[in-house]
Amino acid sequence: MFRCSEVAERASLLIDGELSLWSRVNIRLHIAMCRGCRAFIEQMRITRDLAQKVGATEGVSSNEEIQAALANLQARSERSS
Ligand SMILES: [Zn+2]
Repeated sequence: MFRCSEVAERASLLIDGELSLWSRVNIRLHIAMCRGCRAFIEQMRITRDLAQKVGATEGVSSNEEIQAALANLQARSERSS
């Protein structure tokens, strides 16, 4: 099974769907037991989604806008929970 550092190294590949089946299985096993890596990958996925959305709708993807969108999203999820 992967260690945390190995999961972190592969997180962006996982999100892009570029990992082998074996690597995906190993990461899934790891995040089933590791809260830290689960949160890390979730955060990365949200950031990636936002970057794509901002890029697609506005034609720009500055860090500032992504940060603002992230803060907005977090505020919303805090309210709803
Ligand atoms: Zn971990």
